Amino acid sequence: MKRIAVIGSTGSIGVNTLRVAESHPKQFRVEVLAAGRNGKLLFDQIRRFQPSLACLYDRESAEALSGKLRGSRTRIVWGDKGLREAAGFSRSELAVFAMVGAKGLVPLVTAIQSGKDIAFANKEPFVIAGELIRSLSGKYGVTMVPIDSELSAIFQCLQGRKAGEAKRIILTSSGGPFRKFSKTALSKATVREALRHPRWKMGRKITIDSATLMNKALEVIETANFFDVSAEKVEVLIHPEAIVHSLVEWRDGSHLAQLGVTDMRLPIQYAMSYPERLPAADGIPPLRLEKIRALSFEKPDRGRFPCLRLGYEAQKAGGTMPAVLNAANEVAVDCFLNGKISFTDIPRKIGKLMRRHRVVTSPSLEDVLHADRWARENFS
Ligand code: MG
Repeated sequence: MKRIAVIGSTGSIGVNTLRVAESHPKQFRVEVLAAGRNGKLLFDQIRRFQPSLACLYDRESAEALSGKLRGSRTRIVWGDKGLREAAGFSRSELAVFAMVGAKGLVPLVTAIQSGKDIAFANKEPFVIAGELIRSLSGKYGVTMVPIDSELSAIFQCLQGRKAGEAKRIILTSSGGPFRKFSKTALSKATVREALRHPRWKMGRKITIDSATLMNKALEVIETANFFDVSAEKVEVLIHPEAIVHSLVEWRDGSHLAQLGVTDMRLPIQYAMSYPERLPAADGIPPLRLEKIRALSFEKPDRGRFPCLRLGYEAQKAGGTMPAVLNAANEVAVDCFLNGKISFTDIPRKIGKLMRRHRVVTSPSLEDVLHADRWARENFS
C-alpha cells in the first residue's frame, strides 16, 4: 500500500490520479489532497477519500470548507504554508504533482526535501529550474517519475540505460487543433477553436499550449533538464494519431518507441506504481493497432508555430531564460483566454520579452523566482 499526496487534485491530472487510486484500492491510499480554489470538488473528494490533510489554497474558501467538514478526520489548511505542509506531509510516501504553472516549484522543492518520491505532471518547474531539481533529488535520494505522456514514454524506453547514451530523443506531438491552419487563419483563431484539441482531453492552459506548440517547446526543455541531455538531441515529430508517445534512437540506428491509447490514466498509473506495472485502471480500452491501421509522422512547421523555435532558443540561452519564456507564456495564454490578445500575439509577445531579458547563469532558486516575477511584471 502506497500512501499518496495529490497536489493539484481538482485539475484534469489530479482527477485522473484519483480515478487510478480508486481502481486500485489495495495499492494506494490517498493521504493528502491539495487544490487551488475549487472547494466544491475538493469537498466531494474529501468525502470519498477521507484524507488526513487537505489544502485549499484560497483562504476564504478553505474556511468555508472547514465549516462544512466539522467533525471529519480531515484537517484543512490553506495558503503557501498549507500547500508546503501538504507537499511535505510526513505520512505520505509519494507526492503526485498535478499543479499547473511555475507556482508548483516551491511545493515541489518542499516535497523533495521531505524525501517523498515524486510523480510529476507539472512541467513548468522542470523548465525553469531543472538543474536545481535534479541536484536536490540526488541529494535527498528521491525517485522522480514523469507523468507527461511523452516523458513517460522516454522514461519507459530508457529503462536500464542512460539518456546520454541515446543518439536522439524524439518527442511526438499530435500537432494540436491548428495543424493544418494557414498563417492567416492562425491570426484569426478563436479561443473556442484553440480549446478543441483533437486527441487529448486536458486543462485549458495546456490545451492552448498544445495549439501554439508551446507545450512541445516546454517538453523539449523539460526533457533536456530531466534526463540531463542537450536540447539539440531532442527532436519533435508531428504524429496526429497520438499512439506513439515518444521514441529513443540509439547509436546503431535502432529506435525504441512506447505506444498506448490516449488516456492519461496510463502514464499516471505507471508513475504511481513504478517500478511495478498494474493492470490498466477500470474502463481504459486496449490498444488495437489493426483498428488504427496507419501511423503517420511529419516534421513540425516552425514558421507557423514559432513557439517551438522560442523553446530551443530559451534552452540555448540557458540560465534564467527558460523561466522568462515560461512566465511570459503563462501570462500570454491568460490574456488570450480572456480575449485581450490574438493567437499569433502569443509567440510574438513572448519573443519580444525574451529579447529584453538579461540572463543570469547557474541561477539559484531566488534568481529563478525573480526572473519569473520580472517576466510577469514586464509582459506587454
Ligand atoms: Mg505531453
